[in-house]
Amino acid sequence: MHLLTRRSAAMERLPDSDFSSLPNWDRPRLQPPSVRTGLLETCSNSGCRSGWLHLWRSRSAPMIEGAWTCSAACTAERLKLVVAREMDGRGSVVEKHRHRVPLGLLMLEQGWITAPQLRSALESQRKNGAGRLGHWLIAKEGISEQLVTRALGLQWSCPVLPLESHDPEGLAPLLPRFFVDAFGALPLRVAAGKLIYLGFEDRLDPVLSLAVERISGLRVESGLVQGSLFQAAHTRMLQAPFPHVELLEAVSEPAMVRALTRRVEQVRPIDSRIVRVHDCLWLRMWTRTQTGPLPEPSSIQDVICTIALR
Ligand SMILES: [Zn+2]
Repeated sequence: MHLLTRRSAAMERLPDSDFSSLPNWDRPRLQPPSVRTGLLETCSNSGCRSGWLHLWRSRSAPMIEGAWTCSAACTAERLKLVVAREMDGRGSVVEKHRHRVPLGLLMLEQGWITAPQLRSALESQRKNGAGRLGHWLIAKEGISEQLVTRALGLQWSCPVLPLESHDPEGLAPLLPRFFVDAFGALPLRVAAGKLIYLGFEDRLDPVLSLAVERISGLRVESGLVQGSLFQAAHTRMLQAPFPHVELLEAVSEPAMVRALTRRVEQVRPIDSRIVRVHDCLWLRMWTRTQTGPLPEPSSIQDVICTIALR
């Protein structure tokens, strides 16, 4: 009797409605705790040894990728698997260098520049030892910035995205400031509560785009933004208030798991997700139910964890 009372109290703190009201989230990975099929199957750590004892543990959180863990030890076990899964993805196909037609050649083939203009721009680039070819085509050969951006779009097979009524403050909760800064990403807008437009200046970052997609549960459409417009908007974006973030550096994968476990156990999020972004792991924790596609800044906490290369 006592056991049942405890259990129903725990269930009350985790109503399904908390999850069904989250719009646009990736539902297959965000199953509410009602998927638990029996009294002893509630902890998401498959190796959980606490059995029915965990029913006495009065905790409804943390949740990791939509599943509950009954104790700090089980949280650590879950995170160990999640971290291993993300670290295994390093160097996956999406990051391998894909051959692209050189920008100058592409523009020459399109008839947008002449052979002497290309030679001269390459020479400027060589002499200065810096700057992308597009920069020298614009600066020295009088080629329009729009045309160079269009060529970059062809080179990356991606759209050139407009920058209209950009709202840096509204978009800042989508990802940590560190990623905007370090990887040159610029969230442009959220469309129909389903789609994030993510802009880059001269090259896409498919790894970051995928990470934003997996964290937000929204589809990400990446594209290029004309350089001068991008730079001004990027500078404004970096001045916007971003959600709280903690940067951690771990010496090994087990140390990373321990550090992340500590944070998850302290914050006890109603949900959390971990994705890899290049050499970092990004842990996002939600402390309250969200009401729209853009996270509410005060209800999220980010942790960015890097690992010393082995
Ligand atoms: Zn457990």
